[in-house]
Amino acid sequence: MSHAPSGLRIAVVGAGSSGLLLSLILQRQGHRVSLFERSGQLRTEGCGILLVKSGVEAVAAAAIPGLLDDLLAGGHSVQRFVFRNLRGDLIEASPAERDDGDLPSLLIHRRAILDALWRHLDPACFQGDRSLVSWNQSDDGVVARFADGQEWTGDLLVGADGIFSRVAALLAPGRRLQYLGDRVWRGVVTDETFCTNGDFFVYARGRGIYANFFDLGPDGEGRGRTHWGFFQEEELPGDRETRQRLLEEGVPAAALAKLPADAAAVIAATAPEAVVANWSFDIDPLPTLVKGRVALIGDAAHAMSSSQARGMTAGLEDAVALAARLAPGASGSLLVALQGYQEERLPVVHRYQERSRQVSHRTGRKRPPNRGSAGVHSPEQQRKML
Ligand SMILES: Cc1cc2nc3c(=O)[nH]c(=O)nc-3n(C[C@H](O)[C@H](O)[C@H](O)COP(=O)(O)OP(=O)(O)OC[C@H]3O[C@@H](n4cnc5c(N)ncnc54)[C@H](O)[C@@H]3O)c2cc1C
Repeated sequence: MSHAPSGLRIAVVGAGSSGLLLSLILQRQGHRVSLFERSGQLRTEGCGILLVKSGVEAVAAAAIPGLLDDLLAGGHSVQRFVFRNLRGDLIEASPAERDDGDLPSLLIHRRAILDALWRHLDPACFQGDRSLVSWNQSDDGVVARFADGQEWTGDLLVGADGIFSRVAALLAPGRRLQYLGDRVWRGVVTDETFCTNGDFFVYARGRGIYANFFDLGPDGEGRGRTHWGFFQEEELPGDRETRQRLLEEGVPAAALAKLPADAAAVIAATAPEAVVANWSFDIDPLPTLVKGRVALIGDAAHAMSSSQARGMTAGLEDAVALAARLAPGASGSLLVALQGYQEERLPVVHRYQERSRQVSHRTGRKRPPNRGSAGVHSPEQQRKML
């Protein structure tokens, strides 16, 4: 039986959670990894993440000494889910289920996840300020080209470059972003009274809004923190300038007033620099994750709505699955390994995407978002949105 080649030259494009985990596992396996990132340094902005149990299990499966402990130390387990309506009346409260010996689902800041991964990476592989613009491949290898005019040549290129993936646009030219219908704000704020003790609060969608809050645990000075997300139903503006301008505005006061006063006060108390905003998109399931020597992982492969809190987990699982196919002793050539990755992951991520969309539509806005010219985006339009 042939074995997966060792010491491959591998480019990972994108240093988010998916690309970082993949890079550090591949490094440990003895591959020559180059991690290309468009930003000058790691992009640790963002807010809280509910990393569900299978995401924590994926990190455990990576079997990097100390990594799981670092991850667990950076967050804390979700204890309770509480659903309320917009008057603040309780709909349901249920403890988070966890069997003895199970790893927890974690409430954790995105920065804590990236920092934990970064601490275990040999940083010599990191190349910041390198924005991939194109790639092409032959039987012998793959070439990546960057905006600074430089090129990289190697054996395998992995697109971990997120929802607006350039690698994926060339691998699957039919890839389309679908607008899910909301302008979304997320923030982190000091809070020691409203959402504490591992609570996760959901304010059921109504009157054109939806909101959630969760306890992020103490900051560096021991003060409690709460993550919040606020979704407002809106048509997607047709022009880029308006879209960008609206993302720079805070949550409109009239929309915030639809929440109960205690919940609205938590959002209103957040410093503007601790808020991030985006328009909500997912992508249609892709027919393939692999083309020859090029593979996709994470949001590049399957960006999905946040309704199931599966996005980051799915990318971590991809990284572990792909690395397992490239491990010393795994059977088959590189191309066979990549096909094995695709066969394993495609049905799983399609299920996640389907379920996330179903839940998003069931609990989401009552009329479908505009599927016209502003709602569905060709690769060219997507690039202009960057
Ligand atoms: C509102 C919201 C809430 C969410 N909540 C959750 C949650 O609770 N739980 C959960 O599991 N998931 C959640 N997600 C999803 C989760 O954040 C993503 O799935 C995850 O962060 C994707 O990681 P990634 O590494 O695949 O991509 P990213 O984190 O997007 O990383 C991609 C990287 O690629 C770089 N890049 C892009 N283009 C290029 C290029 N051309 N060349 C070089 N580098 C490039 C970018 O700079 C970036 O650093 C949420 C998402 C949203 C929008």
